[in-house]
Amino acid sequence: MIISEDKKYVMNTYSRFPITLVQGKGTKVWDENGKEYLDFVAGIAVNVLGHSHPVIVEAVKSQVDKLVHVSNLYWNGNQVQLAKMICEKSFGKSAFFCNSGTEANEAAIKLARKYGNTKYNGRRYKIITAKNSFHGRTYGALTATAQPKYHKNFEPLLEGFESVEYNDINSLKSAVDKNTCAVMLEVIQGEGGINEAKNEYLQQVRKLCDENDLLLIFDEVQTGIGRTGKLFAYEHSGVVPDVMTLAKALGGGFPIGVLVVNEKADVFTPGDHGSTFGGNPLACAVGMAVMKNVAQESFLNMVKENGEFFKNQLLAMKEKHSIIDKVKGKGLMIGVKLDIEDGSDIVKKAMEKGLLINLLNHNVLRFVPPLIITKEEIAKGMNILEEVFLEMGY
Ligand SMILES: *Cc1c(COP(=O)(O)O)cnc(C)c1O
Repeated sequence: MIISEDKKYVMNTYSRFPITLVQGKGTKVWDENGKEYLDFVAGIAVNVLGHSHPVIVEAVKSQVDKLVHVSNLYWNGNQVQLAKMICEKSFGKSAFFCNSGTEANEAAIKLARKYGNTKYNGRRYKIITAKNSFHGRTYGALTATAQPKYHKNFEPLLEGFESVEYNDINSLKSAVDKNTCAVMLEVIQGEGGINEAKNEYLQQVRKLCDENDLLLIFDEVQTGIGRTGKLFAYEHSGVVPDVMTLAKALGGGFPIGVLVVNEKADVFTPGDHGSTFGGNPLACAVGMAVMKNVAQESFLNMVKENGEFFKNQLLAMKEKHSIIDKVKGKGLMIGVKLDIEDGSDIVKKAMEKGLLINLLNHNVLRFVPPLIITKEEIAKGMNILEEVFLEMGY
């Protein structure tokens, strides 16, 4: 019934798995038939505190009772408090709130152009991004996304973008010209297959940006808010950007996005940008609840430790199953590159056995479970995956 009516009334933009999820608690979700699944997708790296966490439930309930939305025409205490929390825990001087990752990146793109155009007489508007990146689906972010499959049939794209090889400083150097205003990168490419930037590369990028007065933008929409075992993934390298975008995990499942800038990049003035819903009291109350929990040292250490445990389990499995080509990623953002062209049957079989995982680029399994996952749950998920490998003869 749900599936047939979905096909009738909902636009066909996703090829969905044939289950309808109706409930969740912690790292588990249940479908309409009561079947239980271990959730290693977490709403695509979103539900950091798992499903239905008491602090999120409480934040939503108490704020809904008070005030949901007032627009940005008036001051809003929750917005100020969340901005302060994010800035104090990062390099940020100030923050702009919106509702999603792509919106945060649109804001970053506009900001970078304003920086370049006002400082250099309208001459600097070009933004350089990396091949295989993913920055979102609206036109600016889509153009920044340097993967042809997302562009097909949607041309013409925005002017003033160029893409270069990731982890290749010479490729970037040769793309910088008199029109360039910014470089935009993911610290670990998420949708592109869990590809990590090398520390040395990020250091070289930072230096190049400094020498040419380019803004360095890190898209931490997927890596931010504890996912990699640090609150922000840039902290692993010590390379600090001028601009950072966040979304996915920040609301723990509630839609919110944010653009964070340093002093130099703090160039927006009234009228430059806006959002009707952005930073509403409800979204910010939930964001604060997530930050209060995830930003704690002990929480982040647990993510790091459990991430290492997870990776070690996979590396041990790699010894026995040649289908595992490579284990990649940091913290609880893990990818397994498979030694076959198409891993979709593995994902399907894992789902039948009660484990939700997903696939990137046809042959990278992605594991981005709730950050509250325990070692027992990781081991349980890995047992299911191994069963799948065995049954399929891998
Ligand atoms: C998911 C993602 C986006 C887009 O976020 P939406 O909320 O879907 O618009 C942008 N950048 C990165 C790195 C992402 O992983």
